[in-house]
Amino acid sequence: MPLAIEPIAAFETNYIWALHDGSQCVLVDPGSAAEPLDFLTRKGLKLCALLLTHHHFDHIGGADEILRNHPVPVWGPKDPRIPQVTEQVSEGDRAVVPELALDLQVLETPGHTITHIVFHDDDILLAGDTLFSIGCGRLFEGTPEQMQRSLDKLSDLPGHMKIYCAHEYTLDNCRFALQVEPDNPALKTRAEQAAGLRQEDKITLPSTLGEERAANPFLRTRETAVVEAANRREPGTGEKPEAVFGVIRRWKDAS
Ligand SMILES: [Zn+2]
Repeated sequence: MPLAIEPIAAFETNYIWALHDGSQCVLVDPGSAAEPLDFLTRKGLKLCALLLTHHHFDHIGGADEILRNHPVPVWGPKDPRIPQVTEQVSEGDRAVVPELALDLQVLETPGHTITHIVFHDDDILLAGDTLFSIGCGRLFEGTPEQMQRSLDKLSDLPGHMKIYCAHEYTLDNCRFALQVEPDNPALKTRAEQAAGLRQEDKITLPSTLGEERAANPFLRTRETAVVEAANRREPGTGEKPEAVFGVIRRWKDAS
């Protein structure tokens, strides 16, 4: 069968993504072990690799237990806080999983953490906590300048690309984004769609990069409406995208 990409819910809001073909499986950011191990058993899948985007516990916390049962290669950034990584990758490297014919490009996206990476091919982006639908990760370690550059990198990818992020934050993100851009029709549509899906307890992901560029304020820091909103929030911000980004990020953090 063609590659399936399924979410495994963990904790309150996390999704551990499982990429599989009905027999072989890759897990992305297993913060917990029980749910993905159950998933593998239930579906009769053989684990062939783990992909890790960054060191936060809710992304790697299940890795040790999973690896005890399934010793597989672990792709991730060079970071002493992620000792499980066996295949260290950085900007421009590729993560290759022959069992699933996966050949993923690695991008470094510092901001949420300083060593955060994402994986992508021509169709999918495994975004970790860098890009969320209608949002982005908090700046725990990086600067607004770094995160703006990281998001610019992602924003340059093709619009059809499907975005698999690691948290179900879309509805909350839409509520905030509507404060920044109350008149953005693409955002209003996304907010209504997300509200409907969550009412039925359904996942709002993946979105596409095209949809994010049209509605996600953190990818729109050069748009007049977003620049104006940032300058209303913090007068004197100016038009530099990293400055606008910094204001929007602080505004979101305080909301
Ligand atoms: Zn994180």
